[in-house]
Amino acid sequence: MHLRKRCTVTGGAGFLGSHLCERLLEEGYDVLCIDNLYTGSKSNIIHLLDNPYFELHRHDITYPLYVEVDEIYNLACPASPIHYQNDPVQTTKVNVHGSINMLGLAKRLKAKIMQASTSEVYGDPKVHPQTESYWGHVNPIGRRSCYDEGKRCAETLFFDYHRQHGLKIKVARIFNTYGPRMHPNDGRVVSNFIVQALTGQPITIYGDGSQTRSFCYVDDLVEGFLRLMGTEDPFTGPVNLGNPGEFTILELAEKVLSMTGSRSEIITMPLPSDDPIMRKPDISLAKEVLKWEPKVPLDEGLRKTVDYFDDLLSSGKMS
Ligand code: UDP
Repeated sequence: MHLRKRCTVTGGAGFLGSHLCERLLEEGYDVLCIDNLYTGSKSNIIHLLDNPYFELHRHDITYPLYVEVDEIYNLACPASPIHYQNDPVQTTKVNVHGSINMLGLAKRLKAKIMQASTSEVYGDPKVHPQTESYWGHVNPIGRRSCYDEGKRCAETLFFDYHRQHGLKIKVARIFNTYGPRMHPNDGRVVSNFIVQALTGQPITIYGDGSQTRSFCYVDDLVEGFLRLMGTEDPFTGPVNLGNPGEFTILELAEKVLSMTGSRSEIITMPLPSDDPIMRKPDISLAKEVLKWEPKVPLDEGLRKTVDYFDDLLSSGKMS
């Protein structure tokens, strides 16, 4: 018998994964962090390494993994367009082969397994806000497809393992999330704008800045993960996790400028291909089943994120 529940977090040294590992340790779990450190980083979890209930295992989940745990959080996959487009074949592999490996592990262990899916399964949505019942509008052959279709195929695998093998699955569809430990160079809009504002570089708006996103603070998201994992069967999701507050990219730029007191100018650049025009989660299902909704307003979360990047820049660790 194990007194502590054992869980594994794939992608545990990444932005979301590291916050999840931290929270699971606080909740009394024995946490095995799996990461190949492709976009994840030891610096995200360095403060956890002294904890005897935390373990980092450098491993690529496209190869099988043999461990003994009770719960699996499958987060491994580069998540920013710059990173996932750098090696698109590997992106599809981590979602397909990686999911098969983790589902196989869950099957052997009879463990619960949660998939970190994404709002990208909705593609450039024709339904607004997006509900879980919407099947999406996804380009299968574009630059984002390795991620979008990879994550869609991962959902398919999760549901087939559920139907075929009776696996206990939980699928979260994550909308844009931000907070400390975002990768400073991964090109995400929140990190880009904050770093640009703090260093006096121009704020780069792609397109005319009228496209919208809904930004969820990382602590809120992690709470949603735990609640989802805690649901009783037969609940599987998919369930949207995100903040329904919707902002244009131009509004975000103005917020970051006023919060940092920066005098950076705003410049426009071409809109990347297949960049969704609108995105906002309908979180009725999460509210109903998980009794969950985000608590941290954008201004408060941005303030914490600005402070994080300010420290990172002044410590010289970004260069
Ligand atoms: N974006 C932008 N300037 C940047 C980085 C991103 O205007 O420096 C835009 C991007 O075109 C998209 C939105 O911000 O419309 C969110 O981009 P991000 O890469 O953060 O996430 P995703 O597109 O995956 O939602």
